[in-house]
Amino acid sequence: MKTLKYLLLSAFFVTFSAFAQETEKETEKPQGHTNNNKFKQLYDEFSTPNVYRAASGAPGHEYYQQQADYKMDIVLDDVNSKLFGEETITYTNNSPDVLKYLWVQLDQNVRAKDSKSPLINGGGFNKMGQTSSFVNSHLADGFEGGFNIEFVKDVNGKPLPHMINRTMMRVELPKPMASGDKFSFSIKWNYQINDYIKHGGRSGYENFPEEDNKLYVIAQFYPRMAVYSDIEGWQNSQFWGRDEFALPFGDFDVNITTPVDHVLDGTGVLTNRKEVFTKDMMKRYEKAKKSFDEPVVIVSQKEAEKAEKSKATKTKTWKLSAKNVRDFGFASSRKFIYDMMAVKVGGKDIMAVSLYPKEGNPLWEAWSTKAVASTLKSYSRMTFDYPYHKAISVHARQQGMEYPMICWNYGRPEKDGTYSDRVKYGMISVIIHEVGHNFFPMIVNSDERQWTWMDEGLNTFVQYVAEQDFGEWYPKALSAKDKKYPSRRGPAAKIVRYMGGDQDYIAPIMTKGLNTYQFGNNAYGKPATALNILRETVMGRELFDYSFREYAQRWMFKHPTPEDFFRTMEDASAFDLDWYWRGWFYTTDYTDIGIKEVVSYKVGETSQALKEETAKRYNMEVKDLPSLIVMEENTDNSDSKSLLESSKSLKEYVMDNFTPEQRKALKRPKYFYNVTFNKPGGLVMPLIVKYTYDDGTSKTETYPAQIWRLNDKEAKKAIASEKKIVSIQVDPDLETADVDTTNNTWPKVETTSEFDKMKNKKK
Ligand SMILES: [Zn+2]
Repeated sequence: MKTLKYLLLSAFFVTFSAFAQETEKETEKPQGHTNNNKFKQLYDEFSTPNVYRAASGAPGHEYYQQQADYKMDIVLDDVNSKLFGEETITYTNNSPDVLKYLWVQLDQNVRAKDSKSPLINGGGFNKMGQTSSFVNSHLADGFEGGFNIEFVKDVNGKPLPHMINRTMMRVELPKPMASGDKFSFSIKWNYQINDYIKHGGRSGYENFPEEDNKLYVIAQFYPRMAVYSDIEGWQNSQFWGRDEFALPFGDFDVNITTPVDHVLDGTGVLTNRKEVFTKDMMKRYEKAKKSFDEPVVIVSQKEAEKAEKSKATKTKTWKLSAKNVRDFGFASSRKFIYDMMAVKVGGKDIMAVSLYPKEGNPLWEAWSTKAVASTLKSYSRMTFDYPYHKAISVHARQQGMEYPMICWNYGRPEKDGTYSDRVKYGMISVIIHEVGHNFFPMIVNSDERQWTWMDEGLNTFVQYVAEQDFGEWYPKALSAKDKKYPSRRGPAAKIVRYMGGDQDYIAPIMTKGLNTYQFGNNAYGKPATALNILRETVMGRELFDYSFREYAQRWMFKHPTPEDFFRTMEDASAFDLDWYWRGWFYTTDYTDIGIKEVVSYKVGETSQALKEETAKRYNMEVKDLPSLIVMEENTDNSDSKSLLESSKSLKEYVMDNFTPEQRKALKRPKYFYNVTFNKPGGLVMPLIVKYTYDDGTSKTETYPAQIWRLNDKEAKKAIASEKKIVSIQVDPDLETADVDTTNNTWPKVETTSEFDKMKNKKK
């Protein structure tokens, strides 16, 4: 007997158990005792929902968060590059717990003489290192930063016992705070501001030695309350310099005294604008509030250049007041050019603002403020209406760092004012990114110290959407060769190199930022791509966008955790995504799906002889056997009739069960294929397949990821087609981040993938 493979035509016939068992045997069973099923629900990994955090991913009915309000007087000593401050913190205990002590963060201590931060970095000597870093590490005595705490007192002036553990300070309360209590205390401090170009850091100053001027971008500059929450109790993860911050919300009243010739802006409403602005600045400011298309210059380059030439000895005080912010930052210099324009968001006028020295031009006057305005529009559409009254972009060399309403951004032209595409796009992208951080984590206030991806990943995802908007709204900003904005992160294909790379240097996204190998790809690129694929390929824009907005709105001005995000995305979309979170966020698996084999079949009437033989073999009645049989047939079927015409039993069945109208509508397949897809990669992903026919047409079919649920290695599809299939391609539009596309086509196209090239190189 010819080798026959029995297959079921379940579309036509009732399942036939004896044959079904034969095909089932081919399914591999998972090995071992651990349930490693990729579709296993995330109960072990997720914390159990409770009164603080609901199973839906929304804040629970007893959700609480602490509040920290600040009143501060700050003096910037430009001559000695020192910052002096006295602050009064009013802390409100909204938790149900009794607190015996408070923890305050002293992030400047990362640059203190006795800081342990440099000691955690291994790696030995760099073969090729920066001269400055060699000098700083091995020749110089090192920069002496860190807070000098002059006092910690209660409102009656009584000193409070306190203890400093590196970047954290524990303040003992005179009596324990009960739930609902408020406690006010004051701290007086000062520190030496760092030259961040020389000594690193997310804030500090840049020195312009040829004119002896400094440009200050000041943040993490005051002792800040740590977060106390239902998740962590007191946040106790120290600041090592890389992982960012966890901060409670509060109201700020801050007075900052600077030299009178400085221009300053920062978090909050400037409440004494008339005192610190000149008459000309006020007039221009009024004009800017009505300018929605072009920025209005408040301080011109000419005026800034004039200010650079002398140094005022008098001072002035800028008064800023901010409600419901998690932090405070400001920038100050006599070098600043200052421009603004208005942007409408949700019926409200918001000011888009830029501060930059002449060294940023002509790039900054052209695009900074427009990038700010455009970002506010895109992000508001994707999340919620921007709730603050302004957003500022400050030019600071080599910086990309965010604070409420204000951020520092790189992107500096050459001395002659020319710049490459790389510098231009880099500057626009970093502005979109840092302004975007107003939404994540400044408003959707996740714990950056623990979960870098919750702000960087979500933000980089929306950044991609906003960059594409920007390219559409400001085509003049694009270079001639670019039809759309050339985003660096977001599209699936851009993460392939990372995900297909050396597994020894890849950590799951759910790893604390400090402990990851490739920080940018791990915390920014991969989660952003995961969300982009989820939006474009798995859920579709409508469901994704609704759920993403729901998450942002549920958690705006609150503290979400990863589970709150994962749960909300499922809750609002009716999409069980546990498999997706598991694969993309909890493992380092990559996508590799291919075509293993394509076999064509002939379907025909079962012969009497075969029926008899089969009946004997399975001890059955001949009349109970199916009338159709599928035979392996690699020959061309093009001359055969459609099955509906050639099969007696099929014809009879159709005549008995369908009306003439319905019969006309029936398909008449002539070609039958068994396509075996294989999955060398660990990730389960939807199987996107493009079938191309001999008449040149094609059809793309997306099989949901669940196609892999019973067999993680292989999936077979029976294809009954009216037209002959000439080629099959998996993931034709590169949507799934497939690391090896050489196995994606049938017939096989001989190429060497990037993945193979990397592998060969390693060998
Ligand atoms: Zn960021």
